[in-house]
Amino acid sequence: MASVKLTEKMKDRQLLSFELFPPKTEKGMENLPGTISHLMAYQPDYISCTYGAGGGNVGANREVCQMIKDAGTVPVTHFTVIKNTKQGMKDQMDQYLAEGVDHILALRGDIPRGETTTCGDFNYATDLVKFIRDSYGDRFEIAVAGSPEGHIACRSLEADVAVLKMKQDNGADYIMTQLCWDMEQFKRWLDMIWTAGVTMPVDVGVMPILDMKATINMALSRNGCVMDRELSRLISKYWIFPDPFDSNPPFEDDQRAQKKEDFRKAGIEYTIRQIDQYRALGVDGIHLYALNKWKDVAEIIDASGMKTLI
Ligand code: FAD
Repeated sequence: MASVKLTEKMKDRQLLSFELFPPKTEKGMENLPGTISHLMAYQPDYISCTYGAGGGNVGANREVCQMIKDAGTVPVTHFTVIKNTKQGMKDQMDQYLAEGVDHILALRGDIPRGETTTCGDFNYATDLVKFIRDSYGDRFEIAVAGSPEGHIACRSLEADVAVLKMKQDNGADYIMTQLCWDMEQFKRWLDMIWTAGVTMPVDVGVMPILDMKATINMALSRNGCVMDRELSRLISKYWIFPDPFDSNPPFEDDQRAQKKEDFRKAGIEYTIRQIDQYRALGVDGIHLYALNKWKDVAEIIDASGMKTLI
């Protein structure tokens, strides 16, 4: 059995967790233990680490998992089927277990550019969940992705919800959600999955709003998700990009820096309000995409009272 059952803890209270990514540079890797130790002040129930689709950063992913373990919390590794063979996946799972990593987020991953398949032995996350359960019994606790607005390539939201039920039937333990700023849609999705018989706990992925470019990029280039009125209003109020119809740059550099800082502050307040709403819905956990930044995350947790309010 997995060393710690996060789903058991979820029965008692809402969990708090973070997501990190393996830094690309040596310096980034050197700094990461410091970041993790700052995050540990908030006693996260787990910290997850992303996995580059195609397995390009597997070594760094495993190193980060060990840093998380050494810091004293549960590492949850993300894992995708992209370009992975069955044997290759088995070798990696064996290695994770040998290194004490027995929590996994089972994903398909994004189809590589210019390809029409995963270029691996499995097509979907449902296959991966089944493979892990069949091969390892309950030695892994398995999380799966859920998309409250529907995965960007899904046929319909109904089809996507049916896929989520299939993940549960194949042995998944809980859901980590894609970011969703549209709270009304999130509530509709909760109703839909419950109606479909999905009983897995829901751990909500929250991307802090800190940087305008990153926010727009995340919403539009990758996930096609809705920005609600409040978020659109913030982006509009602190708009930093040049007007394409204006030959003179609209702001001086110091004005732009001020706008960026004002947006960050407003974004933190927005993120806290979102967390309040998710918590009031009784979700099973808040999973903050920490983006390898501890100061902003600390500001959000302190101001939200997540660790002090009951
Ligand atoms: P699936 O659940 O397999 O779904 C993919 C599409 O296929 C959907 O449209 C679905 O409706 C459809 N589908 C699924 N199963 C079936 C089936 N059996 N029959 C027919 N249609 C089906 N990517 C990374 O590369 N690395 C990461 O570390 C990473 N971390 C993530 C963390 C979270 C919390 C989330 C939500 C996503 C993350 N991603 C990551 C992105 C993810 O890999 C992409 O969203 C990917 O495009 C889909 O993965 P999935 O597991 O949701 O796929």
